[in-house]
Amino acid sequence: MWASLVGFIEKALDRGSQADSRIVLALDLHCRLLEGCQHSLFMKIVSLLNSLRNLIAGVKIGWPTILTLGEESLYRLINEYDWGFFFIADLKLADVGHINRLIIQHMADIGFDAVISHSVIGREKALDEAVSTARENGLGILSVVAMSHPGGEEVLNKCFEDNLRISLEAGVDGFILPATMPRYIEIVRERGFKGLILSPGVGAQGAEPGSAVSMGADFEIIGRGIYKSGDPVKAAKWFLERLRW
Ligand code: C5P
Repeated sequence: MWASLVGFIEKALDRGSQADSRIVLALDLHCRLLEGCQHSLFMKIVSLLNSLRNLIAGVKIGWPTILTLGEESLYRLINEYDWGFFFIADLKLADVGHINRLIIQHMADIGFDAVISHSVIGREKALDEAVSTARENGLGILSVVAMSHPGGEEVLNKCFEDNLRISLEAGVDGFILPATMPRYIEIVRERGFKGLILSPGVGAQGAEPGSAVSMGADFEIIGRGIYKSGDPVKAAKWFLERLRW
């Protein structure tokens, strides 16, 4: 089941230790099509990532940015600069297997290192196919097992045990678990899980930096707390002081 202990897990941990950072930037910057600001957003992102070069380990790119930039610009962003970061496509896949397969192939072509899928879709002909496609294309795959916002508790997080089992059986490389609800991280580590745990919810959603790592997460995912602050470098340095490797 854990044949993938090399590959994305190793790459992410190596990068984290070399950068001495447990920060994954959540990149959700965007603009609307009619605003015609795709190019300026691209340049803004390049400048942001340049300024964060030595402060973050990886970049998780979400739907707002993926939709704004499109495949070609994303390809350029990831491949034409020598960033050193790992890049995760936060698609939160939740479709049937053959659709997941097509989408993951696109993400591989763009140059992402890993993708995020929901696990609530179940294993058979869904997460299984996402995992095998990711493997075939040399990508890591992380699954959402619980979510960080209050509504996560209404349905999705009630399926935590099933989501965990499905993810383990499918053989994902790691989990997305909420920093805002650290007990989920604790439970997973107590059960001996050796793969990656990445935790969103730090900063803008209220969790303290370092709180998820202290429960066993490898990385904390921070978006608005960095890119929406008046001084992203200063903000990233502040977070980093609490999130050194
Ligand atoms: O801006 P902020 O730091 O709140 O961003 C959190 C990021 O983590 C967003 O990209 C969001 O999509 C993602 N995320 C989350 N909660 C989850 C899974 C992912 O907030 N359970």
